[in-house]
Amino acid sequence: MTHKYDLIVIGSGPAGQRSALQAAKAGKKVAIIEDYPDVGGGCVHFGTLPSKSFRESVYRWSMGSKGALGQAIDEIDVTEQAAKGTQAAPPSALPDMKRLLRRKDWVVRNEASVVKHQLKRNKIEIFHGRGVLVGPHEVEIHSEQGQEKITGEFIFIATGSRPVAPPHIHVDGKRILDSNNVLDLDRLPNSMIILGAGIIGAEYASMFSMAGTHVTMIDRRDKILGSVDQEIAQHLMDRFSDQGMKLYLESDVKKVTVQKNKKGEERVNVELSNGNSLEADVVLVALGRNGNTDGLGLETVGLQADERGLLKVNRYYQTEVKNIYAIGDVVGAPALASTSMEQGRIACCHALDLETGECGLPGGVHPYGIYTIPELSMIGETEEQLKERGVEYISGRAFYRELARGQIVGDQWGMLKLLVDHKTQKLLGVHIVGDSAADLIHIGQAVMDLNGDVFYFVRTVFNYPTLAEAYKTAAFNIYNQLQKSQ
Ligand SMILES: Cc1cc2nc3c(=O)[nH]c(=O)nc-3n(C[C@H](O)[C@H](O)[C@H](O)COP(=O)(O)OP(=O)(O)OC[C@H]3O[C@@H](n4cnc5c(N)ncnc54)[C@H](O)[C@@H]3O)c2cc1C
Repeated sequence: MTHKYDLIVIGSGPAGQRSALQAAKAGKKVAIIEDYPDVGGGCVHFGTLPSKSFRESVYRWSMGSKGALGQAIDEIDVTEQAAKGTQAAPPSALPDMKRLLRRKDWVVRNEASVVKHQLKRNKIEIFHGRGVLVGPHEVEIHSEQGQEKITGEFIFIATGSRPVAPPHIHVDGKRILDSNNVLDLDRLPNSMIILGAGIIGAEYASMFSMAGTHVTMIDRRDKILGSVDQEIAQHLMDRFSDQGMKLYLESDVKKVTVQKNKKGEERVNVELSNGNSLEADVVLVALGRNGNTDGLGLETVGLQADERGLLKVNRYYQTEVKNIYAIGDVVGAPALASTSMEQGRIACCHALDLETGECGLPGGVHPYGIYTIPELSMIGETEEQLKERGVEYISGRAFYRELARGQIVGDQWGMLKLLVDHKTQKLLGVHIVGDSAADLIHIGQAVMDLNGDVFYFVRTVFNYPTLAEAYKTAAFNIYNQLQKSQ
């Protein structure tokens, strides 16, 4: 049977886009189905880009208003408003939420348009509507205009994920929020309680706290960012508490209710299982995400998602139905835009029998970027993992305060840690917390991927002054320990 399309992709987020583009570049006929009115996925419209754009605005505002260097958005606005003859807010005042969101609105609009043009330029047909599987090669598109059926040799499920709240917490989008609607707030709240100290919770906690909101984070676990090297996580927690953030660990939330205070203002009350209760203007629920597989028609092709809506795949992201692949958040961890793109590429190359080349997935190492303020990034193993495996390792540290660039950018506080095999001196892990961590990590990633050792950093000349010099300082720290141990 001939199909109208070689590949049908359901979902236009990073996973869907990359797989569709890879197939189109190989000369295949591709359709992409998107339920949301615009392309780009949760990544462009609700997740990665809105949160990172908001962060950038807060970061620049804080640098401008709290004494460090950098051009504050307010400085630009002062000029704009002065030209209009209106009074600009003094730089030390709490930032205006609408101003902080301008960058986000601009970035989302632009990136969605970049994605759309890229898909169109590559002759990928875009259908707007809900994709429903009605057979192993058939997808129905349900939209306001009606229904149409298209057929494809391969079908890729790239439908992403959505935030979930436990049944006893009702996200109303006004006082009780999740990551899909927290940036709909029209003013910066005075106080916010964040439920969940994972990546999304920690990122928003640091952004709102830096902007001036009194933030309290609650988590039932005994640490924040459980998968991060604990020395680095502790460094971040110290920074958070310096900023005035409160953290309640090993605390379970029993009840969340919206109540009116004596002045008739709505406040959210969070009752903990230990009997304590806390109050804030708003609550952000960041307690996990489920795969978007409801109503996808999985049963018609013999597939079943797990209790979190996630699909099971092999190392090429192929489901049990050989011509149906699943990629991105819908297959679970690591659930990042970066890894979703690579999964899309791998799945497409496997389906179409194209050369993938060596890649960092699956099984290989890939970096994590956590966009708290300050940033945190890591690749490879943590000290905890190395200890558990019984590996003999050496750690070397560099502190931004020792670097000229650290002083110039006003980050006296950042640090970089290298973990190196004691016998071979090969790099096992890089952990950074501080300015530009998510970019700096790629230097360590390249050395690890190329199977390099710590002496690369000792030998290499770095630009001066840069934060990248931290690699050299940490490497010398290890070199000195090695000399002493001989
Ligand atoms: C607040 C937040 C911050 C984040 N920050 C980062 C970060 O800094 N770095 C990073 O790498 N990752 C980050 N992520 C994760 C990243 O956004 C996701 O991993 C990524 O978007 C997953 O891509 P995807 O293609 O699988 O799905 P998505 O981007 O979610 O796209 C899925 C698309 O499928 C569509 N869809 C769903 N069902 C159907 C259907 N039946 N028919 C048609 N269309 C459908 C949806 O409308 C959506 O547009 C963040 C996530 C959040 C929530």
